[in-house]
Amino acid sequence: MRTQLITEAKRVVVKIGSSLVASPKDGLRLEHIDRLVKELCEVRQTTREVVLVSSGAIVAGIEKLGLKAYPGTLTLKQAAAAAGQSQLIHSYEHAFHKLGQKVAQVLLTHQDLANRKRFLNARHTLTTLLTLDVIPIINENDTVSVEEIRFGDNDSLAGQVAQLVDADLLIILSDVDGLFTQDPRLDPTATLIPSVQTITPDIERGAGTSRSQESTGGMVTKIQAAKLVGSMGIPTLLLNGEIPNLMPHIFNGHLAGTFFFPRTDPSKNSQSSRKQWIRYTLRPKGHILLDAGAVDALTHRGKSLLPSGIIAIRGDFWPGDLVKCTNETGKAFAQGLVNFSATDLRKIMGAQTEKIGEILGNQEYEEVIHRDNLVLL
Ligand code: GLU
Repeated sequence: MRTQLITEAKRVVVKIGSSLVASPKDGLRLEHIDRLVKELCEVRQTTREVVLVSSGAIVAGIEKLGLKAYPGTLTLKQAAAAAGQSQLIHSYEHAFHKLGQKVAQVLLTHQDLANRKRFLNARHTLTTLLTLDVIPIINENDTVSVEEIRFGDNDSLAGQVAQLVDADLLIILSDVDGLFTQDPRLDPTATLIPSVQTITPDIERGAGTSRSQESTGGMVTKIQAAKLVGSMGIPTLLLNGEIPNLMPHIFNGHLAGTFFFPRTDPSKNSQSSRKQWIRYTLRPKGHILLDAGAVDALTHRGKSLLPSGIIAIRGDFWPGDLVKCTNETGKAFAQGLVNFSATDLRKIMGAQTEKIGEILGNQEYEEVIHRDNLVLL
């Protein structure tokens, strides 16, 4: 099953971690970029489509700007990213060009994907590039990414990209062999976990906070990305990118790294793309606490959310924002796009639908969250 999910994958998102392509002391590792590019082209040649998500801009920028250490402030990180990204893309362009492969640079922020129109535009551009036999090279648009709109790390970005392009497989290349039973740097008895059926809380805890100095993520963000794409039916493979030819080999059935089985059926078609976007891409801006009747109406009776079942509201949100619905014990069980601001909702919560106009004046909607904009968790 594992081999089949890998060898039959037609569209693959490959994420390359910073340490594989750059070092703060020496800048870009050009021979490594050449080798990885050659391997990516081999994977591509076997009629597979490849989308590359590459880190390395900040680390390359550190060397280029002569900074003494990894930047501590966001502004300095953004400056380093701007300086490093042009070098990084230039090196990729050059390496791919030597092998006759066209590439394109795509820089994204989370905000680009949180807007449905821009999400669809990004999807359209990426799939058009793939049709034109171009490998998109994606990075976070670090220069303009302030906290609220950031992915923050490229493992999350790669996970979102896998969803965006409806990938069949996500490969995360880093400088470790995969997921271990313990941190192998601290415990010599640690052994590699070849595959993970379900990401349990134990596995999440075991990932600890391990991270290398040059990357934003660590094992934690990799597991989060695997969990996210797994619930969309996409498997993830963590692989050591320092080992030459490992990536092309795994497409010939060679076993390496840690494979995360997708949680659901890999057909991925059970939920519409729009509902997947509501579920996996958007970030909640608030919480709405519901009484038992409303919980039942949403969970079992396929209803929209009306003001009468709302007990309390947390957060500050605007029409169109994503909010989570929680039951009386505080457990989130659904989320959706809200039709009222938090301020207006506080005025109408608990009220019967026909009172909305009386309290707020004429309104476009009577549902707080329409069923079409709601997903159960
Ligand atoms: N976007 C950052 C860069 O290119 C990398 C973020 C990460 O390490 O995950 O340097």
